[in-house]
Amino acid sequence: MPENKPPPNSNRLPRAPFIFNIIAVPHSKTETLRWLVGMRGNVALAILVVLVLSLFIPGAPSANAFSLIGINVLFLLPNSIYHYLLNNEPSGKTLNLLKEIMIPVDVLICTLAVYACGGVLSPMYILYSVLILMSIVLLNPRSVYRTAYMSVGMYCILAILEAVHAIPYVQAYWGGLDPHGNATYTTYGIYLIFVSTILMSEAYIGNRIAQMINQRNSQIESQYQDLNTLYNVTSGLGNLMNESEITRYLVSTLKTVQAATFCIVGLINKEGQPAIAASMGLTPDEVASMQSLGYETTGIKNLIERGEPLILEDLDKHPEYRIYTPGLPVNSVYVYPIIVKGRVLGAICLGFESARSMSQEYRNLLATIANQSGMAIERARLFSDTQRLAREMSTLYDLGLYTGSTLSRSEVIKRTSDNIEKLMNPDVYYIALYEEGTHMITFELSKEYGRLMPKTKLSLERGGLPARIIINRAPLLVQDWSAEGLQYNNITKKRGDDILSYLAVPMLYDGRVIGVLSVQCKEAYAFNKHDQGLLQAMATQTAMALENANLHQLAQIGATIDGLTRVFNHGHFVELMNCAVADSDKDDSQVSLIMLDIDHFKQYNDAHGHVAGDTVLAMVANALKTTVRETDSVGRWGGEEFAVLLPGTGIQEAKKIARSVRRAIAELSPVDGRGKPIASPTVSQGISTYPFPSISTTHLIEEADSALYRSKELGRNQLVVAEAEGVLNPSTTSTPRLGPVTVLKDATITTGDLSD
Ligand code: GH3
Ligand code: MG
Ligand code: MG
Repeated sequence: MPENKPPPNSNRLPRAPFIFNIIAVPHSKTETLRWLVGMRGNVALAILVVLVLSLFIPGAPSANAFSLIGINVLFLLPNSIYHYLLNNEPSGKTLNLLKEIMIPVDVLICTLAVYACGGVLSPMYILYSVLILMSIVLLNPRSVYRTAYMSVGMYCILAILEAVHAIPYVQAYWGGLDPHGNATYTTYGIYLIFVSTILMSEAYIGNRIAQMINQRNSQIESQYQDLNTLYNVTSGLGNLMNESEITRYLVSTLKTVQAATFCIVGLINKEGQPAIAASMGLTPDEVASMQSLGYETTGIKNLIERGEPLILEDLDKHPEYRIYTPGLPVNSVYVYPIIVKGRVLGAICLGFESARSMSQEYRNLLATIANQSGMAIERARLFSDTQRLAREMSTLYDLGLYTGSTLSRSEVIKRTSDNIEKLMNPDVYYIALYEEGTHMITFELSKEYGRLMPKTKLSLERGGLPARIIINRAPLLVQDWSAEGLQYNNITKKRGDDILSYLAVPMLYDGRVIGVLSVQCKEAYAFNKHDQGLLQAMATQTAMALENANLHQLAQIGATIDGLTRVFNHGHFVELMNCAVADSDKDDSQVSLIMLDIDHFKQYNDAHGHVAGDTVLAMVANALKTTVRETDSVGRWGGEEFAVLLPGTGIQEAKKIARSVRRAIAELSPVDGRGKPIASPTVSQGISTYPFPSISTTHLIEEADSALYRSKELGRNQLVVAEAEGVLNPSTTSTPRLGPVTVLKDATITTGDLSD
């Protein structure tokens, strides 16, 4: 909020008439008092000079002059103290005290002066009148009477003292003396009545004048403040960059102008309808009843589009406008349109409970404020658009960056959902992926009012609007479902009835639709063409990121899978073995390894051709994969040699699996290049187990391999198990393929039973 600064051009302030200008314009109280004290001092000084000079006039009575000089000095003394105090920035308390004691002190000194200058029967009682005038200047209507009472009181006391001869100086100026030249009681009585009447009448008139001045002053003060406020609004608007802040500032500031009953700022919203943007002084019910006036209400459209102020000083004289103030306690209305470049953005409305006539100056200022508000609102809108664009650009830039860097599909979906929330703030949204092969739509992520919904799948035929987007390969924007969306109702499967704004765009990649992004809001007109473009850009980036992730996944699979047999390649299989051995250490379980080699495959190739050989290799691999459990892994060790890793499996279980494998291979029905059935190959197998008898991954491989070699040696088509029996078989240890003797030091290779 801006500080209250004085208006730049104070000439515009209204002036009070004649002499009261000096006290009536909103000077400070100190200023007024200073003026009064200064004036009193000057007058007293002038009198003092005259009195002193009169002493030098020969023959002039000097006794009175002497006492008057004394009284004048007596007056000047406190006056100088007041002067001093006033020149030293007095506090409010000191000021009030000053005002309180000044008059009583003056009354006392005045009484002395009256006494010194001939007593109550002299015309010196005029001094009391001066005091009453001073009280008017002090601007407290009640104090005028107080001064009069005090003056009359002191005059009476002086009169009594004189009448009973308690003090000398009895001299009646206007007659009424007895033959001895003394004043009678009647004379005193007449004087008393006369002077008291004069003083009280003066007090009465003074009181009325003081009241008038006060009234006028407060009127000027409030006008001054109003105009000051209005001037400040224009500078205040310059500091605000947010539309709602601007409207709130306008209503709260303008409502204070002329103490308006209410102030409303209405703006034309996205739908082109006038809506109350901010209000002050109205109850929520009253706001609602104002809001319920549709744009089409006769006249409102004209009123807003005409672009001219509407001023109704007395609504009773314009009953046709009563419909615009449904049930509001209002009798005066001032409506100023907010216009920018000839376009009406809305209007500012001030309402007053009683008929109110505002000066032309106020009206011009209000019109200026309405114009300035328009510019401020336009600027705030541009600013927020720019900010929004910058945010969108940076988000899209980020999205583009991670398109190249994120290789996980789930992360892409998470990032896209974050960005949708950040940029579009929808009530409901989803990210659906479409699989061309199966014609299925998977709602990978859907959120409704902040709640994550379960992942669901729909076929294209039953996919509702998302399916329509996929088939048409085009976006769909429905700004107000109740007006334009009804045609889609029969195909909509999943859309809350309360949704009025709907936007969905296809995710396109390389000419294919790979999914749909959709955002939805309860409010109508939540999205426009700009949002559609933005969501489309996000969809394109997301599609690219998803394809990237897919390609990466494929590349990764390629790096671990053997191309011909579709089982793990040698490198990846060894990695899996290392992991399985580490896991077995952790949970104290066993791992078994079956090494398997096709017998006489060279001959097989020779007999049926390499193509048939390849097919058989793939069939054997497939038989292995389908025979073992899901937790087991199959790898191509090389050529026609395979390996099966069995985590959590001891030798007995491994033997059973090896037999199943053998059976599965025996049951294959391979054909040669010409489609002629050929015999299934046989296989030789070797098994070992970690941690016993094998003590490491390398050891496990070597022992299984040795067992396999042994099975070949023993005539093929059989299974050899490496078991720890503490006896070395010399025939095996002597072969070069066994490697270092230490490896097999406490293991014996025994032939297994291949029969079931
Ligand atoms: P053994 O019973 O002693 O294992 O005899 P073998 O003929 O199977 O063994 P050897 O190591 O002498 O020969 C392996 C043969 O496997 C040689 C090669 O032609 C064949 N082979 C290796 N890889 C492939 C392949 O990818 N496709 C085909 N068709 N044959 C392969
Ligand atoms: Mg072989
Ligand atoms: Mg071989």
